[in-house]
Amino acid sequence: MSDSGTSVGEGDGTRAVRAGLPEAVKNEPTLPGPVFAAHYHLPGDVSGPYTYGRDDNPTWTLLERAIGELEAPAREDVETLVLASGVAAASAVLFSQVRVGDAVVLPNDGYQVLPLLRAQLEAYGVEVRTAPTANDAQLDVLDDAKLLWIETPSNPGLDTCDIRRLAEAAHARGALVAVDNTLATPLGQRPLELGADFSVASGTKQLTGHGDVLLGYVAGRDGEAMAAVRRWRKIVGAIPGPMEAWLAHRSIATLQLRVDRQCATALTVAEALRERPEVTGLRYPGLPDDPAHKVAAQQMRRYGCVVSFTLPTRARAERFLDALRLVDDATSFGGVRSTAERRGRWGGDAVPEGFIRLSVGAEDAEDLVADVLRALDESAE
Ligand SMILES: *Cc1c(COP(=O)(O)O)cnc(C)c1O
Repeated sequence: MSDSGTSVGEGDGTRAVRAGLPEAVKNEPTLPGPVFAAHYHLPGDVSGPYTYGRDDNPTWTLLERAIGELEAPAREDVETLVLASGVAAASAVLFSQVRVGDAVVLPNDGYQVLPLLRAQLEAYGVEVRTAPTANDAQLDVLDDAKLLWIETPSNPGLDTCDIRRLAEAAHARGALVAVDNTLATPLGQRPLELGADFSVASGTKQLTGHGDVLLGYVAGRDGEAMAAVRRWRKIVGAIPGPMEAWLAHRSIATLQLRVDRQCATALTVAEALRERPEVTGLRYPGLPDDPAHKVAAQQMRRYGCVVSFTLPTRARAERFLDALRLVDDATSFGGVRSTAERRGRWGGDAVPEGFIRLSVGAEDAEDLVADVLRALDESAE
């Protein structure tokens, strides 16, 4: 929905800095400030666009345009809705599209809240099937499914699957296709152009990139399906605050700068880790010999900021995390400040005890690599 008339540039940087901006108005700011409103003046008969604050907000409208311009440049048929968090967005798609007796296909190696969503779907009488992300294994369990949920690259294992191939197979069976685009960001991957019906993401991660906002969104190209998502947002009330929406929009202006820097450094860090004998199971989709690279290269334009690897023991991994000075021991990913964690501390992910998920920030690559290598040295017995 690019009706602002300002998205004239073709490059990602140009698109990011101008995304969603309204027409310039003399004496007005370029990006209008957050609109704090529970209700709007509404004399007479009820008519839109802005009636009540849970239904719509002008600050959301600009952010939704911005995200839509990045997820599907030059496509007028795409609608974007922002929600309170990535999980709110995922729930909005899953629970608005399926009914008792429907079957849903999820990955079995995706985001750690998926098993909770699975349990809730099953409690509502929905059949849930799972398969791994790698090797397009979800293809084998698609028959009679209502909705296929894809997460590529998967979090935290960083496997990939072929979105176009899976979407074609799902559509041939009458299923809708949703892709979790959190890790890739719209600058890394455009699921709607690859055939998905929904691109769903957490804006909490690299999209906003500063670790200070929770946000989610759904972009979709089927009007009826998106109307159901909108209705779900209204009845559940999982809406972002105007301040969060405005901060997110402001942050998107630097998306291309951040993503390019963080991806380039992530590759450098992965290359440095590859030389270390204590590191096993190193994964980064941008490494040419990574098992995920072939599929990633055909559908991604950037490979993300997350690197994962395994250290020999839990104790070694904990000492490594303690020894890092430029990398905070914290969950989540995508922020300008590097973070890492021992993923096994949460339980739930099928990962070794020494498995580390490292999110590469915007620090200088030389500083970050030096810090990681020093922490590896210091954490050795
Ligand atoms: C974090 C994350 C989510 C959930 O997002 P929240 O904003 O934390 O609710 C969903 N999918 C993936 C892949 C994530 O990393």
